[in-house]
Amino acid sequence: MNIKILDHKDFEHVLSCSDPETGLEAIIAIHDTTLGPSLGGTRMWQYPNKEAALKDVLRLARGMTFKAAAAGLNVGGGKAVIIGDTKKDKSEQMLRMYGKFIDTLEGQYITAEDVGTTQNDMDVIRKTTEYVVGISGGSGDPSPFTAYGTYLGIKTAVKEVYGTDELSGKTIAVQGVGSVGYQLCKLLYQEGAQLVVSDLDNTKISKVKSEFEAQVVTTKEILEVECDVFAPCALGAVINDITINQLHCKIVAGSANNVLAEDKHGTILNELGILYIPDYVINAGGLINVADELTGYNEFSVMQRIRNIPLTIKKILALAKAQHISTNAAADQFVQDRLSSKSVKGGEAL
Ligand code: NAD
Repeated sequence: MNIKILDHKDFEHVLSCSDPETGLEAIIAIHDTTLGPSLGGTRMWQYPNKEAALKDVLRLARGMTFKAAAAGLNVGGGKAVIIGDTKKDKSEQMLRMYGKFIDTLEGQYITAEDVGTTQNDMDVIRKTTEYVVGISGGSGDPSPFTAYGTYLGIKTAVKEVYGTDELSGKTIAVQGVGSVGYQLCKLLYQEGAQLVVSDLDNTKISKVKSEFEAQVVTTKEILEVECDVFAPCALGAVINDITINQLHCKIVAGSANNVLAEDKHGTILNELGILYIPDYVINAGGLINVADELTGYNEFSVMQRIRNIPLTIKKILALAKAQHISTNAAADQFVQDRLSSKSVKGGEAL
């Protein structure tokens, strides 16, 4: 196993590892451990080259710092990528070697599953390192927890805009009804919201249509739906130069990561009078759930922490108003403040 240190401005450690025998090509990026050991999943993807993998891991690791800090967790931000085709290149030997690579960091980086890796992979990695969460018998599927936090965040936004968090009669357009989107639709439907949904997968659409009386539109139309809330639960960068003028909603609040193509789109939403709930704040339920494994998993305390998401959103909205800045800029500032004060709130934090 050859480990190379890749110095990178603004990151605590960036290391690459290659092991010709098992075919392992991986990069671990530790962005910030001010609040605790860095936690973030391992993505396995067929990147076109090492530069593309590095760019992705740096972006993702930084994002984890922000998400964990905003969630009140005492963990830092880190992420890892394995370069390769999950079908052809993944093997037990490779994952065991990858576990050894993680182990060299002595707990500064703790991994979990992400795109291209599974709970089963985490079980294999656990054989060579203890610094892994999301293993069998652990915290389980994060999606219902992410959906619950997103649902609470939507209610908080609705209260801000309409003066009541009542969802009955509100029209909510959900883009993507996969793991999180489906669970979110269920919670919204139970409260009487009228759903408009879209997905590339017709089986998923049929299920939501029949179970929750949802109106189905095309993947293009979902952006233009006249609605109270647009909830992106599929892709990143969905609010961009082209789509931003197509919106007919009062609120953008969903589970997708990196909803805004660029920070400026948060400012434009603000100018258009559309309330944007920052993605990494509203979608932290899954991270809160998996991070709880670090102290011995307890679903009750996970739910309590997720119920704090609305509180954080309210603080961020107040900050945005007071400083006349976009809500995404306010969220970033909220995180920076927490990092610089290294504050730990008794019951809330790990
Ligand atoms: P998923 O893959 O289960 O679901 C995504 C769905 O979006 C799929 O059904 C897919 O067909 C659909 N989709 C893709 N492109 C689309 C398009 N153009 N229009 C409409 N639908 C489209 O993923 P998920 O786990 O439900 O995650 C959804 C989003 O939430 C992702 O952005 C993910 O990064 C984010 N997120 C998920 C979690 C979690 O706990 N799973 C946590 C935090 C953030």
